[in-house]
Amino acid sequence: MKTCRTPRYLRVSLLSACNLQCSYCMPAGKRRPTVLAPDDKVRSAIRFLHRSGIRKIRFTGGEPTLYKSLCGLVTFIKEMDSDVHTAITSNGVLLGSKARVLSAAGLDSANISLDTLDSSKFEALTGSLKLNQVISGIDAATEYIGNVKLNCVLIRGVNDDEVERLILFANSRGLDIRFIEFMPNRYSAPGDPRFISSEEIRNQLPWQFQASSNKYNSAARYYAASSLRIRVGFISSVSHPFCDGCDRIRLAADGLLYTCLFDSNSINLFDLLTTEPGQARAQFKELVRSKQLGGCNNTAGSTIDLPSFSAIGG
Ligand code: SAM
Ligand code: SF4
Repeated sequence: MKTCRTPRYLRVSLLSACNLQCSYCMPAGKRRPTVLAPDDKVRSAIRFLHRSGIRKIRFTGGEPTLYKSLCGLVTFIKEMDSDVHTAITSNGVLLGSKARVLSAAGLDSANISLDTLDSSKFEALTGSLKLNQVISGIDAATEYIGNVKLNCVLIRGVNDDEVERLILFANSRGLDIRFIEFMPNRYSAPGDPRFISSEEIRNQLPWQFQASSNKYNSAARYYAASSLRIRVGFISSVSHPFCDGCDRIRLAADGLLYTCLFDSNSINLFDLLTTEPGQARAQFKELVRSKQLGGCNNTAGSTIDLPSFSAIGG
């Protein structure tokens, strides 16, 4: 088994709460009490992890744009080290009003989730009527933040017939789009019938795709086609795990630091930095050392002990 690279990319889930309730992430009836990361503890965790080599920080959730001091955290990172890339993953609902201030605070990029362009499917998937707000959010983020990608989770029988339309929508706005394989999680066991592979989808599309150059640590495999001005990416975590290039770690809103979506092994960084700061470095190194690449392959096992996607941030 190979061991982990030095972590360079930190994903921080700031809160477990969300203004949508996507059926694949927060199934009805499974809502848990909201966990909110204390701003001062997030700052000290970021300071500590930056000293350990982190060079890119993505805020996620739940929905990160609901977190009151999101702009303050972005500014804090840029003042600490302007070379650290700051990003969010958002459902886009609030970006119509927040993209400009986030950009002014120093936010470098945004990934925005868009699973459907059909308002009745959107309502069935998310329990809300806010599709138009999401589209306004995408447009505001494109205008003010500039570096925007769209993310779409592929769900058999729900949006697998919409992939071409979503690509044309992304192309009309000049935004790269990535299709994410439905992943097993706390609320859905391996073998869920909603899973559909990237390959099955790619084979149905009308374009002749050529593989684009990919960064070693990119989760997505990108493709280009002569009639598209954008790249189309596939994040095939289930059918083709990308563990070999993984340099990510994940901090949940309760302070638990994980090295993989599919590994429940963690340390509580908030507690350690508060009560035993002298132990934090050694425990962090041990956590990273014990990360076994191939974690995505563990999706065949039980997922009941894993944190939910809304807790760990996807
Ligand atoms: N609320 C934000 C959003 O939806 O973009 C950020 C949090 S969300 C948990 C982060 C990402 O996880 C989203 O792109 C979402 O689509 C993805 N996600 C959630 N559950 C998933 C699942 N079962 N399989 C694949 N991706 C999932
Ligand atoms: Fe909220 Fe994002 Fe989960 Fe949807 S995927 S419920 S928008 S956290």
